[in-house]
Amino acid sequence: MKNKWLKVIALGVLLGGMALATPTTSVFAANGPDYTGNETIKNERLHNYEEMSEYLDKLDQRSEALDLEVFGQSNKGRDLYLAKFGNQEDNPTILYLTQQHGNETLTTEGALQFIKHLTSNSKNVRELLDNVNILVVPRLNVDGAEGDVNFSLDDYVAGTHTRYNANGIDLNRDHVDKNEPETEAFHENVIQKYNPDYLIDLHHQGTQTTLGDTDELVSGSILFPTNPDVDPEVVEKSKQLGAVLYNSIESKGFGTISKYVGGTAPTIGRNGIALEYGISTLLFEMRGMADHYYEDYVLGQKSNGYLIRQAVISLEETAQAIADGSIAEADTSFWDTLPESSYNRSSE
Ligand SMILES: [Zn+2]
Repeated sequence: MKNKWLKVIALGVLLGGMALATPTTSVFAANGPDYTGNETIKNERLHNYEEMSEYLDKLDQRSEALDLEVFGQSNKGRDLYLAKFGNQEDNPTILYLTQQHGNETLTTEGALQFIKHLTSNSKNVRELLDNVNILVVPRLNVDGAEGDVNFSLDDYVAGTHTRYNANGIDLNRDHVDKNEPETEAFHENVIQKYNPDYLIDLHHQGTQTTLGDTDELVSGSILFPTNPDVDPEVVEKSKQLGAVLYNSIESKGFGTISKYVGGTAPTIGRNGIALEYGISTLLFEMRGMADHYYEDYVLGQKSNGYLIRQAVISLEETAQAIADGSIAEADTSFWDTLPESSYNRSSE
């Protein structure tokens, strides 16, 4: 591992202050710089709520393919957005959900780039949308992402973003009761209304998660529904979705993926949504967070580029595999040997 770090340092010196905004080799993918305790966390580079709203509105005005919907309001009255592409009942539907946890930001940046890509009206995109319906909920926890909450963030590294919603509730533990306005609206006005076949729930974990017992840091971790009452056929399709995502990242040398170690509780979206609706779900945890009270969870912004790119690739490739039907041939046997995450102190 020392060699790898040296390579990273050497390349870092070569590149100097250049922002790593473009896809890079796997050298960067898992071992990008993280917060060291003295780096300034510049979260203003991310889209805040107002900027995200303006961005989505602008794309909606320009694009015929995009149908932007407000499907509810947060505790603090912010609109919740759903970006819809394709509206053909016979086509399969995939739903992408980001930022149930307000401090897990880069998944949303990836989702916004994906949405922009789908408004491009290129031949490839038109063909894609002829064969799959794509729904994107970018940032469910809009209040936590603004730090606009009814509790103090004084003990956070940056003090700008929190996992919890305004009431201090973890939205990804509210998928059975649906007590919070964000989860209630998501279930009633997105899931129950559009009946997706697939859901990818995107999150971020700490920066120090490793591949099994090795000291190799991972760029992400994945897991299918593990509640024992989920229909085995739903689980198998979830594993296929995971296979497509895994191959899109690993086969291109873009990153290193481990198997997430997660619980079986139905209150977690990955489990509860598979259980209640028979939707095939996948959890995708990317590396590092915008803010946390654990310093080693917080990612320096130098790693943002490759992680956003990793999110975009995984969204594009999973949508493509569903559109062209190749997902049905995805080999799920890799799950049996995929090393589990180690030093995994985070929870989805
Ligand atoms: Zn999360």
